[in-house]
Amino acid sequence: MKKYQHLFFDLDSTLWDYDHNLAQTMEFLFSEFQLNKYFHSPKELQRIYLSQCSDLWRQYYSRKIGRNQMLLLRFLNTLQEIKCNDNDLAQRLTAAHIENTPKQCQLIDGATEVLKELSILYQIHIITNGFTAIQTKKIENCGIKPYITKVFTSEAIRCPKPNKYFFEYALKSLHTSKENCLVIGDNFKTDIQGAQNIKIDAIWFNPEKKKIEDSTTKQISDLKELLSILQLIQ
Ligand SMILES: [Mg+2]
Repeated sequence: MKKYQHLFFDLDSTLWDYDHNLAQTMEFLFSEFQLNKYFHSPKELQRIYLSQCSDLWRQYYSRKIGRNQMLLLRFLNTLQEIKCNDNDLAQRLTAAHIENTPKQCQLIDGATEVLKELSILYQIHIITNGFTAIQTKKIENCGIKPYITKVFTSEAIRCPKPNKYFFEYALKSLHTSKENCLVIGDNFKTDIQGAQNIKIDAIWFNPEKKKIEDSTTKQISDLKELLSILQLIQ
């Protein structure tokens, strides 16, 4: 008898190639809006944009700012970093970013093949910190939707990973218990420690082979390793 029934995959940088897809979107914005007036390159735009994001997500999750404000501030702050106070441009960049990002379809190597194989034996779900409309479109556009049973987003649950309420909500809505579940994700804090905090098994997808002190966590550097790991325990 197999040990797990439900596999929970993180989306960004676990299945959907966030770095590649973000770079593509930034190149599109850079050329579409002639941002060479403001930035040396799409890479510079991306670097400044990313430097704004984590603090804005923190403010969003602590309810200091709302969804739309958070989305706009990503570009408003990015422009302000280079002394440009163009609110209209920030709004147009925000809208174009929201529309273009889910159209990017590069997946992490092996993602489709692995989901296809595993979906024969397990129910596969997505657990993602992000906005429902955007994450759902990404899943549809990149072709993995047929393998996914449920999508859990922090926006819908109103609470982000690694908060235990996020994981408990997912378990409850599937009428299952933690012993039946396995989490796979690239973010050690939000995915792995989040799962481990409530005693759900987890596998850290660590393609860059980052070092951590905790040597007991199971790690993979290639998604295809999941096939042997999960079929061995049949
Ligand atoms: Mg991730």
